[in-house]
Amino acid sequence: MGDPLDSREAQAEAVVERLQTEYPDSTISLRYSNRLELLIAVVLSAQCTDERVNQVTADLFETYQTPEDYANATQEELADAIYGITFHNNKGGYLQGIGERIVADHDGEVPDTMSALTDLPGVGRKTANVVLQHGHDVVEGIVVDTHVQRLSRRLGLTEEERPEAIEQDLLPVVPEAHWQEFTHLLIDHGRAVCDARNPECSACVLEDVCPSSKLDAEVDLASGEEW
Ligand code: SF4
Repeated sequence: MGDPLDSREAQAEAVVERLQTEYPDSTISLRYSNRLELLIAVVLSAQCTDERVNQVTADLFETYQTPEDYANATQEELADAIYGITFHNNKGGYLQGIGERIVADHDGEVPDTMSALTDLPGVGRKTANVVLQHGHDVVEGIVVDTHVQRLSRRLGLTEEERPEAIEQDLLPVVPEAHWQEFTHLLIDHGRAVCDARNPECSACVLEDVCPSSKLDAEVDLASGEEW
């Protein structure tokens, strides 16, 4: 039976506790060794898999090590260097612009505020949140990627549809101490069990509290459509 708990707060707590047990080492899967690499990796990961980004950045980070390196490259050179990444032409331009802005406006350092980060080319609130959390230890929100969007809706934690609205809806429901790991737990579970097309509900540790469980629910609350 998939019966959600009485309140969204209780449901969120149960989700976090159970997934912590399932994925005790849950964390970001992008590889980086400093804040600039983190920022670049997260920008590249938009609509691309972390696995592909890690393959490409292994070489990219050998060649481009400072903001000046990106600022002094052309968009075409950077697009070539990240070939294989979704939207590599656009992202090549973002990387060049990020290098320029960090050199010109931030003394060569990756900024540490939401507003300064989201002023950089190709950086939205989700990217900025990841950089703040993992680069600066500043947790201002919940990163809502496609897995968090899908699982939060499936599990009855939100009825919102857009990532920004989902984040605002989740903030009062998920305890602040868990904002950062909530994202990684849901991503891990989304990858391992609760995938978009064919979730393995019979093997899911959340099945008894999930109102979308295929074992007894007609509708996938993530899409609003019948299974
Ligand atoms: S795998 Fe099934 S039961 Fe588990 S969270 Fe996803 S939809 Fe719910």
